[in-house]
Amino acid sequence: MPKRYNWQLGREMDYPFEAPPPARQVAYVFDTNKCIECQTCTVACKTCWTSGKGQEIIFWNNVETKPYGGYPLEWDTRLLAKTGPAAWKGTTLVTPTVFETEGDKQPPNGHRPAVDDYSSPNVGEDDITGTIEMGAAFSGVHPMWMFYLARICNHCDHPACLAACPRQAIYKRDEDGIVLIDQERCRGYQECVRACPYKKTFFNVISRASEKCIGCFPRVEQGQVALCVESCIGKIRLHGFLTTRGEPRPDNPLDYIVKIRKLALPLYPQHGTGPNVYYIPPVHVPNGFLEQLFGPGVEAAKTMYRKLADDRQLLGALLLSGASQRIITRFEVKGDEVLGWAENGDEVARVPFTEPVYIRKHYDEVHNVYRHNTT
Ligand code: SF4
Ligand code: SF4
Ligand code: SF4
Repeated sequence: MPKRYNWQLGREMDYPFEAPPPARQVAYVFDTNKCIECQTCTVACKTCWTSGKGQEIIFWNNVETKPYGGYPLEWDTRLLAKTGPAAWKGTTLVTPTVFETEGDKQPPNGHRPAVDDYSSPNVGEDDITGTIEMGAAFSGVHPMWMFYLARICNHCDHPACLAACPRQAIYKRDEDGIVLIDQERCRGYQECVRACPYKKTFFNVISRASEKCIGCFPRVEQGQVALCVESCIGKIRLHGFLTTRGEPRPDNPLDYIVKIRKLALPLYPQHGTGPNVYYIPPVHVPNGFLEQLFGPGVEAAKTMYRKLADDRQLLGALLLSGASQRIITRFEVKGDEVLGWAENGDEVARVPFTEPVYIRKHYDEVHNVYRHNTT
């Protein structure tokens, strides 16, 4: 099997295709510390892209509560039960990826959920890891935890869905790395559903074809962020491109956060697909759990996050989350502001580090009204 270098694993790995990296790679940073599980992202995607017949229990974007939630049910723990826990030597993965466990010329290691596994998309919502002793919640700190994990297709560097498709119906676009399923070519064999470690391809029982998040490509082609990014209430999401040919650029917010500072980490990197949604780990959750989810960089990322207030370049890049409908490809911290520019050079974001406070007079003589300073 051909070998490919996987930078997230610090080593080469088997992958059944030889293809150059795309000209650039669409990527996202999600800050788990800020997600409130309002599901606005889920509804935005659903109403725009998956409101048709056969899509009733299909959510290209979902938000689940960890550790117990999962859509489809147990999507991750069922695969982990087959692969075993990941082991790392420093930043190099020593356990096999899903492409390396089954042997040469075999499809990636995986499992296919049952239809019913999709019917409880928010199972486990807000469940914490155990019972809190009476009164402990008022003492400030208790050991129980949970957090919200927002999930979309990762538009992987080495997609397992693509590798598994016997019809070559799945392709990765050269211009932005978005992974798409050709609905005309798909015959509904569901090999992609079985192979995707994140269960982000879905079988539509009416169209008899598989489908998945399209990365909002019609918007991306116009320079706009994805709908699930634009609609995010918590401003936890930043959408952009990673540099794939050449060195990461410090003035590219995605390159800076993901590749240079390594504040945001890939989800289950041990599976080897090179996922491109990068998560800032929740600072209150124990490392043992998080390291299985996000790999060996968890503690360093948490430490960096706790010191963000003194790290203006990194904080500035993060402040661009939710700051513009346009994709920001360049940023700069200037004085007390961070500025972001779109690809065509337009300035599309200007965010102050300190939100200004305006105190209005209680009584407005011009309009003869009384005002509260609460908005
Ligand atoms: S819209 Fe944003 S804050 Fe709300 S659930 Fe989605 S990712 Fe979380
Ligand atoms: S997340 Fe799954 S569906 Fe998306 S590109 Fe990766 S392997 Fe394919
Ligand atoms: S990128 Fe677009 S298609 Fe994909 S989950 Fe977000 S809103 Fe849905």
